[in-house]
Formats: sequence, C-alpha cells, structure tokens
Amino acid sequence: MALIVQKFGGSSVADADRIRHVAELITNTYKRGNDVVVVLSAQGDTTDDLLEKAYEINPSASAREMDMLLATGEQQSIALMAMAIDALGYPAVSLTGWQVGLETNSNYGVARIKRVSGTRIREELDRRRIVLVAGFQGINKFGDQTTLGRGGSDTTAVALAVALKADLCQIYTDVDGVYTADPRKVPNARKMDEITFDEMLELASLGAQVLHNRSVEMAKRYNMNLEVLSSFTGEPGTIVKEAVKQVEKTYISGVASDKNIARLALVGLEDTPGTAFKVFNLLAREKINVDIILQSIGRSDTKDISFTVNSSVADRAYKVLMENKDQLGCDHIDISQDVSKVSVVGGGMVDNPGVAATMFEALYEAHINIRMISTSEIKVSVLINKDDTEKAVAAIHDKFFA
Ligand code: ADP
Ligand code: ASP
Ligand code: MG
Repeated sequence: MALIVQKFGGSSVADADRIRHVAELITNTYKRGNDVVVVLSAQGDTTDDLLEKAYEINPSASAREMDMLLATGEQQSIALMAMAIDALGYPAVSLTGWQVGLETNSNYGVARIKRVSGTRIREELDRRRIVLVAGFQGINKFGDQTTLGRGGSDTTAVALAVALKADLCQIYTDVDGVYTADPRKVPNARKMDEITFDEMLELASLGAQVLHNRSVEMAKRYNMNLEVLSSFTGEPGTIVKEAVKQVEKTYISGVASDKNIARLALVGLEDTPGTAFKVFNLLAREKINVDIILQSIGRSDTKDISFTVNSSVADRAYKVLMENKDQLGCDHIDISQDVSKVSVVGGGMVDNPGVAATMFEALYEAHINIRMISTSEIKVSVLINKDDTEKAVAAIHDKFFA
C-alpha cells in the first residue's frame, strides 16, 4: 500500500462527464489499497471567468478580495468530486486550504507556502477516506484566504506530497507529458520520458505552463519525483527527477515562450557610477522582479538601460520610474508590451558550445529580429516581437529537433 497524491487540472474536471471520469481514476487507485490525496483545480475557465466578473465590478479590486473570490473556484471542484465519488460508492471528504492547514505568507495573489500541517489529512486517511483538497489556496497569519498564483494547484500538490511523505506525486493534465515544446503549438514536438528538475524548472519559469515553476522548485528541494500525465489518454507520462539516464539525455530539452512580458527602456541616462544602482534599487523597493537587462552606449556621455518585467507589474514599474525620472537624470522612458521571450533550455548546453549560434541562425533564416539576449548555463533567451512568437518557436524547434 502506498500514499499517492494526484492533482487534476481545470480541463480534467471541466464538466460532469470529466468529473465522473476522474472519479473513476481516483477510485481505481483507492481500490488497489492505496491512501489517496487528490488536489483539484477550478473547473475549465472558472478562474478566468471569476477574474472577469471582478473586473466588471471594480477594475482595481483589492488583492485580498480577489483571493477570496478566486479561491471559490477550487472549492466547487472538490465538493463536486466528493459527490461523484460518493455516487460510485466510495468514501471521500473535501477540504479547503485552511482545513488542511496550508499556511502561506500574505502576498495575496502570489502567496508562498510556509508550512503544511498534515494532521487533518492523516486523520481522514486513517478513516480510509479519499481526501480531496482545494488547490491554489492557503491561509495567512490573519486567517485570510490567499492564492498561490496562476497555475498554483501544482504547487499545492507537491507541498502536500512533501508534507505527507507521499510515495508518488502525479500531475494529471490535458497532455500526456512534458514535450520539447508546447504540443498544441508545435505539432512535431516530442514527448520526453524523463526530464531533470533543473531543466523542468527553467522550462516552467520561461513559459511552459505545463507545471507551475514553484511546484518544480519545491519538488527539487525535497527530491520529490513528479509524474506528468494525461487524465484523458491513460498513456505513461513524463517523470521529473534529479538525474536522468544518460541515454535519455539530449543536450537541448526544449523550447519555451512567454508572452506575458514587457520591456522598459530608460533613454539618455547620465553615464556616471551609481545610475544602474538607482534604477534597480527603486524597482527592488517596489518588489518588482527584473529579468533581462541590457545597457548600451548612448550619445555624448549618456547611456541607455533596457530591461524586461512581467506584464502584470509593467505599469507599476513605469510609474515608479516616471516619478523619479528627473532624479535619475533620464531623458525619456519607453514601455513596450509588444514583445515576447523565446528560450531554449538544456542541461547539456554547458558541454556543447554553439547552442546560441544555432538558435540565432534559426531566427535569421526565419527573418526574425532579436531585440535582447540573455544566457545562463542551461538556457539562452531572446526577446523578439510578440507577433513572431509562434514562428520563432517552430523555427528554433525544427533546428534542434527535426
Ligand atoms: P492544467 O489545467 O492541467 O494545470 P495547464 O493548461 O496549466 O493544465 O498546462 C497544460 C498545458 O501546458 C498543455 O495543454 C500545453 O498546451 C501547455 N504546454 C506548454 N509547454 C508545454 C510543454 N513543453 N509540454 C507539455 N505541455 C506544454
Ligand atoms: N485555478 C487556478 C488557475 O487557473 C489554479 C490552477 O489551475 O492551478 O490558475
Ligand atoms: Mg496548470
């Protein structure tokens, strides 16, 4: 007998038929004598619909009230699933984030998990119940609901698997594993049998939304292997783990893209020591994360600094810089939202020079202009025009994998 944590995403529980199908998968695992803890996302587009609903009423609603609203989506799923499992004749209980003691910090909308108490879940498992936990939500020190950021149910699943010392953590979704690129956009993308935590973390952080990046971060920290698989097909999935067998190892693991970014440019800054410090210190104080940074020589004793941020904080970044424009000694500030980031990721890159050149060649052949470049040991990212995203991903993928 094993303790198995299974997570089902929004499309896996989108309607009554899907819920019944997933109830069968869950009870099949239970029937084999296992302890089963299930994490569910909100059904289908529920979270998007709730966001729209809030926007209609107040476009600048407080983050606390947004979390109160968004957390209801997951709560519907767990109650409906408990009913479906009951209809099949098996015992199940649904529990919210606070009922399972999932404590987070107070950063509403992007809360981080601080602690998970497994007590209630263990009690329910001892009664041989299937435990259904609402994903994506937790509770802060004020006793208020928080949410973990879009896609955060994956992180709930990994956090519970770690806290309960689960034998297996399965992330069921609408594709049958992790591919070399988004299989919905790149039809010839290949499924990987295995991928390392490091590579998966990069892919997830660079836009492959198949796993929430924090879930991978946590799985890596506690060495909890994950299996990504489809709730639709029953095919074996992809195992995410510390090290993969050498035969499996290719030097590039995948291509990812991210359209949720914006580029800001400070033009005509004074070319004196401390300028970069002043700019990025302002942003750091606002807790704004900066990604790619480029400094270039301007005209006559000036310089330009451009950088990218997540779209969700772009307006805030622009505002704080504009408020300090004179103090920074800056001529003007541009903001553009028409950009995207495309990246190649691979643990074998370190030993294979030329990855960047190959990527740039693919972009050149596709007539795509590069606006910024950034590299690390296991990734190369470029900033391009948003309209070119799909073309760029396909061209780069073909170059490395065709
Ligand atoms: P869920 O609702 O189950 O959490 P998500 O929509 O968050 O599902 O994630 C699954 C989606 O991730 C897939 O439908 C696929 O389009 C997308 N995706 C992006 N990159 C990849 C990749 N490299 N491999 C597999 N899926 C990917
Ligand atoms: N329902 C949330 C979202 O749509 C969390 C999740 O699906 O993981 O982002
Ligand atoms: Mg997801």
